[in-house]
Amino acid sequence: MNQLDAPSLCVECQGGRLIGQAVLEPDGGWRYFLACTDCDTKVELGSDSTPQPEQTDADDRTCSHPGCTTLLSAYNDTTTCWAHTGSSFP
Ligand SMILES: [Zn+2]
Ligand SMILES: [Zn+2]
Repeated sequence: MNQLDAPSLCVECQGGRLIGQAVLEPDGGWRYFLACTDCDTKVELGSDSTPQPEQTDADDRTCSHPGCTTLLSAYNDTTTCWAHTGSSFP
């Protein structure tokens, strides 16, 4: 993790300690905060809008059925898993 050039004491209450927080946004970017342990002060340090590279190959596909996360085989050219493809197996 990078060293953050940031104050370690709260600028509002001068008493609380600031602790780093990282919040993962729904779009995959990270937002970094310093949050005071004594008051509600939150200092946003910045954001990293670059989505984390996912540990998946481009070939990895999941079922297109809403809510289904079943991985599809690379050898299967359907867009849904076996459970959602229907019963037309050859
Ligand atoms: Zn404070
Ligand atoms: Zn499915």
